[in-house]
Amino acid sequence: MHIVHIASELAPLAKVGGLADVVLGLCRELTWKKYDVDIIIPKYDCMDSNEIRDMAVDVYDLQSYYNGQMYSNTVWVGWVENLKVYFIDPHHPKYFFNRSCIYGADDDIERFLYFSRTAVEFLHKRAIQPDIIHIHDWQTAAVAPIYKDIYQPLGFNKPKLVFTVHNIEYQGRCQTSDIGRIGLTDPSYLSQEKLGDPTHPGDVNLLKGGIVYSDHFTTVSPNYAKEILTSEGGRGLEGVITQYQNKFTGILNGIDYSYWNPEIDRYLPAHYSMREMPMDKKDRNTLDKKAFVKKVLRERLNLDEPHRPIVGIVTRLVPQKGVDLIKHAIYRTLELNGQFILLGSTPIPSINAEFHELKHRFADHPHVSLILHHQEELAHLIYAGSDMFIVPSLFEPCGLTQLIALKYGTVPIVRKTGGLADTIFDVDFSGKPFEETNGYMFDFPDDEGVDSALDRAVKCWFEDPDKWRKLMINGMKMDYSWNYPADEFIKIYKDLKSKAT
Ligand code: ADP
Repeated sequence: MHIVHIASELAPLAKVGGLADVVLGLCRELTWKKYDVDIIIPKYDCMDSNEIRDMAVDVYDLQSYYNGQMYSNTVWVGWVENLKVYFIDPHHPKYFFNRSCIYGADDDIERFLYFSRTAVEFLHKRAIQPDIIHIHDWQTAAVAPIYKDIYQPLGFNKPKLVFTVHNIEYQGRCQTSDIGRIGLTDPSYLSQEKLGDPTHPGDVNLLKGGIVYSDHFTTVSPNYAKEILTSEGGRGLEGVITQYQNKFTGILNGIDYSYWNPEIDRYLPAHYSMREMPMDKKDRNTLDKKAFVKKVLRERLNLDEPHRPIVGIVTRLVPQKGVDLIKHAIYRTLELNGQFILLGSTPIPSINAEFHELKHRFADHPHVSLILHHQEELAHLIYAGSDMFIVPSLFEPCGLTQLIALKYGTVPIVRKTGGLADTIFDVDFSGKPFEETNGYMFDFPDDEGVDSALDRAVKCWFEDPDKWRKLMINGMKMDYSWNYPADEFIKIYKDLKSKAT
């Protein structure tokens, strides 16, 4: 079976958040299971080309339609890990992907609509007819109506379409004139049956288009699948999702353990595994290798080295992530005699200013370090060198950071929402046997909620190191790889393929 993913991000070369990890991880797992997988992404000027091997031109002059004219594109092909990736490089005078950023340009809608149309044009002209085209989030959702309404009538009609909603917050609302430029000109696109936004009359909603036009759509955890069916979680699309519920599945994201793994992580100064974790109480002061990473992390960030737990967080700093709760957690951690490390970046100027002010306030603090960039290597060091990892999100479709933390023996402290509730089982309150628990959880997104989990975690770290170590190992043992989730996608792909014949 041949599957083509069309996406706006791909780890590690073009990454903003979890979408990049998911596209890479799922595709790699599919290839290991002997499926033929290709990926199409934009050729961003800011992507890390060191991560691409054997880059070459695949098509010199791919003509594609935009706003009443044909424009030339170069399509490049190269290898990322074991995956063949096509990169679309438009010669349109706006040079859509030469903006030194992945998102955040004023014309993001135009950029990704252009990309969506050109990606389908490429498959059509290059006569690549996969069994499945798998698209992701609003950025490539328009592929669905473009393919069904423009290309299927031309006889390009073999592929079935799967759409994954990674975050319903971002819907790609735009105008009919925007989709008109990619050839979706009929006024009926504004109707409720098609792309008309349910809550903003007169607007087109690209994410909705992906839902309506796909053959099957998924989201990134079973619990989030339930949440977005409700008026609280659906962000105005709950009615549409309910209407198409018979082609909807929640599939938990996985983690690529060939990349996120303390036994082989290329960014770590020492490697460790749960097999090397001393289980015996006598050994609790042993400087095991995770403790060595903690030491390196503290040295790197100029933190003192007392007997204190480190609470880490690696996150986009956006309201969804519970920005005020993160700030509260910094102060509470200090009151509890812990240390706090935050690695975060934000596209939102007011949050940026707020955290720079905070960084200034904690400059040279022996127990707090705030790093306000995107830094892959430091992220790995924080996952491995911290003792606990906090994710106080207001909502969280799946969340990858808590899953990565588990693998690195770093105990998650999370809010009970979305995929966090599917993956973290509170040591005191989940009702599960101890061996099946892996962290701490709180219900209400307020300061008391954070304290109710953070206080218990820090208390356990100080007072019951034996239990703590066992809790770390519980988490490290759990399998959140792509193995099972990829099988669920394969089932959907096969199902659709069988309907095609
Ligand atoms: P989201 O997709 O909402 O950002 P996820 O938890 O699904 O959240 O995925 C976040 C991914 O982005 C993880 O791989 C995390 O390590 C990474 N990440 C987030 N912020 C940073 C940062 N400042 N530096 C490095 N990696 C980051």
